[in-house]
Amino acid sequence: KTWQGELSSRKKDGEPIWINLTVAPIKNSQNRTTNLMAVIEDISTRRKLEDQLRHSQKLEGIGQIAGGVAHDFNNILTAIIGYSSLAYQSMREDDPLRTHINNILEYSEKASTITKSLLTFSRKQATRLILLNLNDLVSNFQKFLLRVVPEHIEIRTTCTDQMLSVMVDQVQIEQILMNLATNARDAMPNGGRFDIATRLMDLNEEFIKTHGYGTTGRYAELSVTDTGCGMDQKIQEKIFEPFFTTKEQGKGTGLGLSIVYGIVKTHNGFITVYSELDKGTQFRILLPLARTGEVQEEELTE
Ligand code: ADP
Ligand code: MG
Repeated sequence: KTWQGELSSRKKDGEPIWINLTVAPIKNSQNRTTNLMAVIEDISTRRKLEDQLRHSQKLEGIGQIAGGVAHDFNNILTAIIGYSSLAYQSMREDDPLRTHINNILEYSEKASTITKSLLTFSRKQATRLILLNLNDLVSNFQKFLLRVVPEHIEIRTTCTDQMLSVMVDQVQIEQILMNLATNARDAMPNGGRFDIATRLMDLNEEFIKTHGYGTTGRYAELSVTDTGCGMDQKIQEKIFEPFFTTKEQGKGTGLGLSIVYGIVKTHNGFITVYSELDKGTQFRILLPLARTGEVQEEELTE
């Protein structure tokens, strides 16, 4: 009989490969099998795309759940904040319990910030797109960076001379930079270098074939590199999931990169990570360049 199946194998040079193997008997006039015919097809690219699809569907699912929970949670917080405010206002100014109520209000606001981040991740918040030069955004962001990144980390920004017109939500792109910078800082407790760079990228068929992702077109690339602790393959596979963190309790929320991922997807962009243990990490974000003649401002609600 004919046999067909998918197998993982290795090429002569040792590189892993997925193959689709079909073996069929060739029979003579007496119906006896005299030969076997094998057809081997390289399906590595398809398997890679399938893996990526599964991964992004998983993230999509988690995002929807997280968004739903965040929505309900936010309603509860609104009630807590409302009642605390009422209690606060009806207390005498010298009431010793006022500080307690004030603390409740402060912590509730913090919780509210987290739920809002989650809503951004699950794309339940309105996105306000404007046309801007990514280089300007990156240069203007420097002053915020200095607030997050301590002195013993050297910051370097390299922007391309080419204009990078993109239709983006400025606040959200700044949030991306902020989240990546915070992670880089955490990865370099003993100092190091933090690089931000922009360049123009042309995604052609060749690129898509070798990298296994993308859609043809012109993109603005934003790359963020640190010389920190890096991470192994296992961790890299999980970093974009909400609540995934390797940081001790109270330090990390595990939301930073999931929000970055959500924002990049809202902008029809791509994000990839390259990391080596004890060497450092690089995130590359591709945002599609605005087509000429695109409207100046646009309200997008998803
Ligand atoms: P959090 O920072 O709250 O842990 P993130 O979503 O921002 O959540 O990051 C998830 C995890 O990814 C981190 O806990 C860390 O293990 C890993 N990570 C992210 N950025 C870096 C980086 N630049 N270098 C090393 N590890 C990183
Ligand atoms: Mg983080």
